[in-house]
Amino acid sequence: MTNRYIMINGDIVPYENATIHVASVAMKYGASVFEGIRGYWNSSNKTLNIFLLNEHIRRLLESMKLMRMKHNYSSKDISQFIENLVRHNLLKEDCYIRCAASIEGEGGIDVSDPVMLSIDAFPQSRKAKQQEGIHVSISSWIRISDTMMPPRIKCIANYQNGRLATLQAKADGYDNTILLNQNGKIAEAPTACIFLVKNGILITPSVTQGILESITRNFIIEIAEKLNLSCKQQDIDRSECYLADEIFLCGTGVEILPVVSVDRFTVGKGIIGNITNQLKLYYYDTVYEKEYNGSHYLYPVSF
Ligand code: PMP
Repeated sequence: MTNRYIMINGDIVPYENATIHVASVAMKYGASVFEGIRGYWNSSNKTLNIFLLNEHIRRLLESMKLMRMKHNYSSKDISQFIENLVRHNLLKEDCYIRCAASIEGEGGIDVSDPVMLSIDAFPQSRKAKQQEGIHVSISSWIRISDTMMPPRIKCIANYQNGRLATLQAKADGYDNTILLNQNGKIAEAPTACIFLVKNGILITPSVTQGILESITRNFIIEIAEKLNLSCKQQDIDRSECYLADEIFLCGTGVEILPVVSVDRFTVGKGIIGNITNQLKLYYYDTVYEKEYNGSHYLYPVSF
């Protein structure tokens, strides 16, 4: 992307100038929280539809609160900054918006200000294997828990747990991996939540099982109801994954990504399942406004 700009504390600056000091508490102790948000381009209306923007901003503010960051940013400020940046970067295509709040102050582990709010926005297409699905393992790394580093928020330091698990899974020849929580129940993938389908019922771990409070997961629970699919939030054993009819991961990055094997056990028929496909189509119809025009899930930025 030529002429990429970044928003820093409300100012639009060239990409090269968007830096933070090595002595900052963000760099030294990982005191930074973030959001990943998707924008979908609607070529007929010439609008970039930002998906579930308010929900992402709410979670960013919650992450900042939990990390005791001192700041004065409102949700309105942040949505305005995002809107200004995507316009400035001329994002007339599907894109990804990364919004971070980082402690740029120097000092000890307890320093909580000043906070640097940075926003990056760049083109991003669909992840591969949306159609054929992916092969995952159950990781031997265990998901961090609420008593250590709350996984319900998006603190960058949390991602070292998922990074170790991903690197191990890739070294072992898998596409991705699922982590168990401290109680040996299914938690989530390193950057996505998980749903199983068994006998026509959707099942996903509850938000107290060591998972991020995923916005896509909430959206799927909501649309499942509209599609008259029952959905349960409950504990899931590892062996339930081996015997599931369908499995998929969900999240802003992966959208809805079918899983076709777990620890080399084939899931269902080893292809994308009917319910997964139904949800995937509903998701695309919503974000590209094929069926559900002017949906309240979208924040339109017009060009
Ligand atoms: N879990 C983790 C650890 C993640 O990083 C993500 C991606 N944000 C998800 C789940 C999915 O969350 P969301 O649907 O809000 O993107």
